[in-house]
Amino acid sequence: AKADGRRAYRFYTADMTERARERLEIETALRRALAEHELRLVFQPQIDLRSGRLMGAEVLVRWLHPTAGLLLPGRFIAVAESTGQIEQIGGWVLEEACRDLKRWERAGFGGIRLGVNVSGRQVLHGNLVETVQGALERSGCRPESLEIEITEGFLIRGPDTSRSILERIRDMGVGIAIDDFGTGYSSLSYLKQFPISRIKIDRAFVRDISLDVNDQAIVRAIIALGRSLGLKVIAEGVETAEQLALLTECGCNEAQGYLFSEPLTASVFLDYWNRQARP
Ligand code: C2E
Ligand code: CA
Ligand code: CA
Ligand code: CA
Repeated sequence: AKADGRRAYRFYTADMTERARERLEIETALRRALAEHELRLVFQPQIDLRSGRLMGAEVLVRWLHPTAGLLLPGRFIAVAESTGQIEQIGGWVLEEACRDLKRWERAGFGGIRLGVNVSGRQVLHGNLVETVQGALERSGCRPESLEIEITEGFLIRGPDTSRSILERIRDMGVGIAIDDFGTGYSSLSYLKQFPISRIKIDRAFVRDISLDVNDQAIVRAIIALGRSLGLKVIAEGVETAEQLALLTECGCNEAQGYLFSEPLTASVFLDYWNRQARP
């Protein structure tokens, strides 16, 4: 094995070495981040298009790095997935999200749901059923107020075991949304095979919905499909009033995006909620 390692080393390009070092750096720093509580949650409002009411929020993780400042998930989630740290991060996100939701409910802010991103690795290796169950029990959150978001790509790659895990989570009463829908070229039969409650239309289709007739046709088809299967449909990345008008006209149920709000810290999110509940 030693000889193999030495031989492999010769094929290393400078670029690969650089990337491996960066990965190791992030891995080490992430271990500290978890121990020193440097991760934070932000919340992006999800709005019902017919009533304009706040229905829920997507939970997104942020890393308050002591020297680099606030890091977006794009900087560390992929590494955490490859090292397996995503299981611990994801568990923390679920716990924290449920705790926040319960705390808000006690403060008189009840009746919304939180959507938590879950990586495929958590489903396959991370005891997701126990993690979700534990987070609900410890917080006292209702399962109906929790939703997990799984990417469409994972459904395609995920084996049968992932379906039975998702079924157990659905049986608890927790919602399951397919994230980034439309990007993964999944066969439509996946929608029937998996216990899904919501489709999230990927931002890429929403972006050009008012300019590109093909994107508009795709969005219309996704919404029609969702409706006929009894699924809720939410559009993400809504930035303009024009996009909103088109989505509303197509019968989309909900939307989230910068037009309504960027992701907010908990206290700013409560301010937002307060304002929109008492216009
Ligand atoms: P995603 O699940 O597709 O999340 C939506 C992303 O779009 C978020 O980026 C959000 O800030 C951004 N966004 C929201 N509205 C708009 C808009 O109107 N326009 C544009 N251009 N962007 C918008 P963020 O927070 O950087 O998250 C990126 C990705 O990181 C997420 O994509 C998700 O895949 C992953 N992620 C975030 N938090 C977690 C987590 O707790 N666990 C896991 N496994 N993945 C996470
Ligand atoms: Ca998501
Ligand atoms: Ca998404
Ligand atoms: Ca996305």
